[in-house]
Amino acid sequence: MSLGLLRVVAAVVAAGVLAGCGTFRAPQVRGGQGDSGQQETAGVDTAGEDTAPAPDTAPVRSKPPATRITYPADGSRRWLVAAGQSGPAAGRGGTLLRYRVLVERDIEGLATATFANAVAVTLGAKDGWTAGGQWRFERVGAGQAYDFTIYLATPDTRDELCRDVPDGYTSCRSGDKVVLNVARWVKGVPSYGKDLASYRRYMVNHEVGHRLGHGHELCPGPGEPAPVMQQQTLGLHGCEPNDAPYVHGESYHGPSGAYPDETPAREKGRA
Ligand SMILES: [Zn+2]
Repeated sequence: MSLGLLRVVAAVVAAGVLAGCGTFRAPQVRGGQGDSGQQETAGVDTAGEDTAPAPDTAPVRSKPPATRITYPADGSRRWLVAAGQSGPAAGRGGTLLRYRVLVERDIEGLATATFANAVAVTLGAKDGWTAGGQWRFERVGAGQAYDFTIYLATPDTRDELCRDVPDGYTSCRSGDKVVLNVARWVKGVPSYGKDLASYRRYMVNHEVGHRLGHGHELCPGPGEPAPVMQQQTLGLHGCEPNDAPYVHGESYHGPSGAYPDETPAREKGRA
């Protein structure tokens, strides 16, 4: 990276705004503290949702095919809202953030509750954002007060919600909108190096991390875990994929900054 680019990165980071995890472009300041359009992505694999294990006594046979998740490139901007959680908030202390989970109606083959549960498991994991005792998360349902929203959106709807470089590929965070691109949820990114479940955890933790005020970070050294706030969707830059903000029980970070990686072509729909 050139010295000039480093200066640009440093300036952007200093401003606390990084627009677009995907494309490196001048930031747009929107909303309050740390608010900016952020995007991101990475992954591999295809679908593979919630296949129930066969009973032990069943004769050997192949697993039933997983439901294929399909979606148009341009959804209707109509949403299914996940029910609020029944148990206590995730986390042992700190600021309580209430969040909604919305899934665009045009996404088929993925139950809203299944997606919401995956998000909740990630947010409440022992190596997740609650691990430091600074944050608690509670999913609320329709009609309830909330602090932010996690959307699972089609590529074109992602662009509309993110209001950043409209790449149709990455995910993002814009103000109180955490926008996960369904194409990344389903396909991950090529050459990520870990399974799709890991990439999905990365998506959630990275974009929610922006909502918590974190900017982009760089790979701290060859072979080291990538910080969860590194744009792992676009490149690992010598780091190993890592989906969690805590590593070996410690809050894990790299130097502030972003790489001038190119974003792949925008996503089409999936039949
Ligand atoms: Zn990002």
